Amino acid sequence: MRIDKLLANIGYGSRKEVKQLLKAGAVTVNGEAVKDAKTHVDPEKDRIMLYDEEVYYREFIYLMMNKPPGVISATEDVKDETVVDLLEADHAVFQPFPVGRLDKDTEGLLLLTNDGVLAHQLLSPKKHVPKTYFAVIEGEVTEEDTAAFQQGVTLDDGYLTKPGELNILKSGPRSDIELTITEGKFHQVKRMFEAVGKRVVYLQRISMGPLQLDEELNLGEYRELTEEEVALLK
Ligand code: URA
Repeated sequence: MRIDKLLANIGYGSRKEVKQLLKAGAVTVNGEAVKDAKTHVDPEKDRIMLYDEEVYYREFIYLMMNKPPGVISATEDVKDETVVDLLEADHAVFQPFPVGRLDKDTEGLLLLTNDGVLAHQLLSPKKHVPKTYFAVIEGEVTEEDTAAFQQGVTLDDGYLTKPGELNILKSGPRSDIELTITEGKFHQVKRMFEAVGKRVVYLQRISMGPLQLDEELNLGEYRELTEEEVALLK
């Protein structure tokens, strides 16, 4: 890979700014100053330094965000703020995108990555990746609902869902529940409750496959996945 592309990709500036750094002799490769932007380097083998700092290149980035309400799960939107707008420049430079969608008003675990293959696998209907949601429901949630969800419920468009595992945490005029589903139809959780005559008033995703929402993350915050978490996803 060209040294100017590599440095620009990791956020050391535009190609033009990186060229200036190179010209100024700020970059060394294996101890030798490299001034020519066209120089090819192997990020796996070569030791690249910018001033006194070693440059670590990685192709992929994996971020776990606690998505806040009011923000769109997309890379751009004409009207609303997107989850990508919440990223620091040194993460945004990798051009991560959200893996799947949460509704604008839904909070919680959202994975962002630029690893298209992994994203595709996690979203593939064939993989049945379980997703667990915590929700507050207007109305009493009953054991009949649990049984109905276990069978699968028919949504407003006639689609029969795969079984969902419903756990009632608190039942009353407002109920707290956890629901695990293995599909990702549009507004699925909300529509599953509509199918049993109830309304979701708060929705938060708490897990996706092996990933649990990190409780240390406040709404709108994110962190990189650990190597172990990335390995679990693959
Ligand atoms: N189901 C929904 O209804 N909304 C979401 O954001 C996610 C799952």
